[in-house]
Amino acid sequence: MTASADIARAHALLAAAERVLVLTGAGVSAESGVPTFRGAGGLWRDYRAEELATPGAFARDPRLVWEWYGWRRAKVAECTPNAAHLALARLALARPGRVRLVTQNVDELHADAARQVAAELGADPAPAIPLELHGSIFRARCTRCGTRAVSRDPIDASSRETLPRCATCGGPMRPDVVWFGESLDERVLGEAFELAAAASACLVVGTSAVVQPAASLASVTARAGGAVIEINPDETPLTPYADVSIRSGAVAAVPEILG
Ligand code: NAD
Ligand code: ZN
Repeated sequence: MTASADIARAHALLAAAERVLVLTGAGVSAESGVPTFRGAGGLWRDYRAEELATPGAFARDPRLVWEWYGWRRAKVAECTPNAAHLALARLALARPGRVRLVTQNVDELHADAARQVAAELGADPAPAIPLELHGSIFRARCTRCGTRAVSRDPIDASSRETLPRCATCGGPMRPDVVWFGESLDERVLGEAFELAAAASACLVVGTSAVVQPAASLASVTARAGGAVIEINPDETPLTPYADVSIRSGAVAAVPEILG
């Protein structure tokens, strides 16, 4: 198929779908300036994400891990939603409850887009707020009592003593994200699998589809008879199962297939 035939087919599948699940990964935010883990710019100093985003790394050196999260928070705080985030928010608000967003991202750019588009329309942003499979870098969680705190303030990681502490019990806080080797929140995961099974189409944008179990959501839709549409400049393990695979960046392709 030619590229424009792929776009037309993706458009038709999404327009005809009674229920749509949109699954996004780091690639949807790449053109907003948020580095992906596996692409260029994914390194911080000489560390790979897999060396820092783990419970072991935090136990060994919480200051180093918080310093990295502080750097990522500052970087993401400068970024704004791109045309792909905005088009997905418009879609979810146009078909409330029937189009649901599920993201592996921790940058909150889908939620920012939901609030921006909802404000333009005078609508409630809730239908376009994504289910966050891996948490958010703007939330912290107490390692002792589980209390959560939301903040975009800078992190002072100059010493162990200045790291975020719990307002309730004084315990050490950690980023409220799912690290490599940790399990996902069961309620969130259960809801995502229900959405995948009920979807007549699953649109997968910018994920390398190598991180489980998020990567298997699209195959749940496919097994239930739904269509799978993938947008990614590179081939992924999902490509062989996709009904349509669009080899393009999210900013060019998403508004086009939804337009
Ligand atoms: P990944 O970094 O493993 O893969 C990113 C994918 O995006 C790749 O397949 C790449 O080909 C594709 N891509 C690159 N540029 C693109 C573009 N312009 N348009 C569309 N696709 C593009 O990311 P992942 O699959 O999301 O999984 C890694 C984990 O890393 C996730 O669990 C997530 O929590 C975390 N992470 C999150 C962020 C974020 O919140 N923005 C950034 C980096 C990593
Ligand atoms: Zn606490």
